[in-house]
Amino acid sequence: MAQIFDNQYFRTERYKLAKPLDNDTVLVGHIMHQTDISSVYKTLLHRMRNIAKKNYTLKETKENRKPRIQFCGYAVNANLNQPIKLCRNDKGGLFFNGVANCGGYWRCPVCALKISENKKELLSGLIGAHQSKDLSIGFLTLTVRHSKFDTLKKTLDKISNNYRKFQQSRFWKSDKGIIGQVKTLEITYSDNNGWHPHLHILYFYNNSDGKQNEKFQKEVLKRWVSFRDNNSLIKAQNQKMLTNDISDYMAKYDITSEMTKGQIKSSKGLTPFTALAKIACGDYSDEFEKRRLYGIYSCYVEQTQGKHFVNISNSLRKEYSEFMAEFNKTDEEIVNEVTIDEVLLKISLPIWKLICKNDLQPLVLNKYKENGLEGVYNLLTYFRDFKDLEIEIDSNQFTLLI
Ligand SMILES: [Zn+2]
Repeated sequence: MAQIFDNQYFRTERYKLAKPLDNDTVLVGHIMHQTDISSVYKTLLHRMRNIAKKNYTLKETKENRKPRIQFCGYAVNANLNQPIKLCRNDKGGLFFNGVANCGGYWRCPVCALKISENKKELLSGLIGAHQSKDLSIGFLTLTVRHSKFDTLKKTLDKISNNYRKFQQSRFWKSDKGIIGQVKTLEITYSDNNGWHPHLHILYFYNNSDGKQNEKFQKEVLKRWVSFRDNNSLIKAQNQKMLTNDISDYMAKYDITSEMTKGQIKSSKGLTPFTALAKIACGDYSDEFEKRRLYGIYSCYVEQTQGKHFVNISNSLRKEYSEFMAEFNKTDEEIVNEVTIDEVLLKISLPIWKLICKNDLQPLVLNKYKENGLEGVYNLLTYFRDFKDLEIEIDSNQFTLLI
């Protein structure tokens, strides 16, 4: 995979080589032996975002407005003429500071990864805090009946409205011993079943009576399947108590696993990002299938505008207010949050623009990781645009400029 994604830059006719290369073999050699999966996925996510950028919602088309994703990873943050900084965060990861992020969870694979990582941390913290008090948590999956011909809008409206009304129904008026809940919306698409939005719900109980709570959850499922026009089946729902091993549950928030665990190839439903990944990898049989994948992605974007992916009830926020304070951020704030452990390299704005023009952002990070400043220098001078590249050294701080 590394070869596909890295070599795409070198195969293309668009970029003529600056000079006959003697570092050519070194560069390619590195790629061939690259075992760092995260480097490969950086490039893949970047490619996916570039495909995603071409998509406009109806509203954006009508208002002739550019979607924010078009700036994500390219545009420089408004303030001043500061160079872009290649930084290392506290976990050892490399990133660019000073570049815009769009914060679109259903839309942008790069931002979605950051947002889902944040939610994972938040939810595992909440679950841990609750379980450490020896209180139980129930995990339910709720679905509604749909046919493969139903639109996403229809099924999504049905499940969202019905769950809201379900919670307001008389059944819930008496005390169920629930402090609060976390509701996560997941949507998949498959040829056999069409659009399949479903809810993953956690009930945080004020007791540790697993048996009693499970009995109650079975009752919830029973009532849910026949609620309003849900018309669903018990066997299409699920309920259990969360144990201390929450890895199965947390896996639902692992976006990269959708792309790493062979799911791209499997017949399991498509998410917006597996659809994009298939397009980015060329994993389609013909132009028609490619357009279909793109259609699925763009339908996701259209119907999830303004929809939250994780909802935490106010009562639960209140119960864990101290812990929640740390996570009280919008998706936009999450993607713009940075922890800079070290500034490794400064990149002047003219150089940054050329990096963007040549779509080299992920490769610059990967090459720095492999071989530091030398790796980046060798990469850039491979392209004609960077033939006048210079490195300035000022009190141990390196800056790339022209
Ligand atoms: Zn983004």
